[in-house]
Amino acid sequence: MTESIFRDAPYQRENEASFEGVDERGIRLDRTVFYPRGGGQAGDAGSILLADGAAIAVADTVKGEGGAILHVPAPGQEAQLARLATGSPVTARIDWERRHRHMRFHTATHLLCAIVPHPTNGCSITRDYARLDFDMVEPLDKAHLEAELARLVAEAHDVRTVWITDEELDAKPELVRTMSVQPPRGVGRVRLLEIDGVDLQACGGTHVANTREIGALKVVKIEKKSARARRVVLEFA
Ligand SMILES: [Zn+2]
Repeated sequence: MTESIFRDAPYQRENEASFEGVDERGIRLDRTVFYPRGGGQAGDAGSILLADGAAIAVADTVKGEGGAILHVPAPGQEAQLARLATGSPVTARIDWERRHRHMRFHTATHLLCAIVPHPTNGCSITRDYARLDFDMVEPLDKAHLEAELARLVAEAHDVRTVWITDEELDAKPELVRTMSVQPPRGVGRVRLLEIDGVDLQACGGTHVANTREIGALKVVKIEKKSARARRVVLEFA
């Protein structure tokens, strides 16, 4: 199991780590700042720096078995990979510009969930856009969504992670009602993402610390995907 530094420290850009191995799926380290693709959020890219100064380019990050995080090397780096011995010290460094866009877009999708009071059934967060699918039949108004997003960004709401136990969740039914998704039960505790006064829901992704950091957004598309699905696509303005 890889130690996930991004979970508690989403702003950390690099970390010292120990190389544990590589196979056709990717490079394993003992700990990493790289977020593996999941929950709709794209995996991180970046580089793994060797002690001698050489760098291995990482094109993507995915989840492996048993809690492993796999750093997918860009093609054509077999020679550098062959030089890595188990236990070698390395530095894992994410492409921060890309990750920060993921964090801003991801936090923006939480705002959109708060503005549109319907369940979501699909989400994609990338460097260039965020896409959210709502299960609803009503039409959505682009100007209204943009105005509400701009208001919530300008209001500068704090964003924080809250861990609660299954028992605490059971004891607070009003908490569940404010969530658009029922959190997973049975693992003992649940990770919630709280945007102060705006949104509260179970989430394992990376987010910015305050909504003002999202910046200006535009709704580039509202699409009727089916009788019961409305897709909203956001970009940075
Ligand atoms: Zn989230």
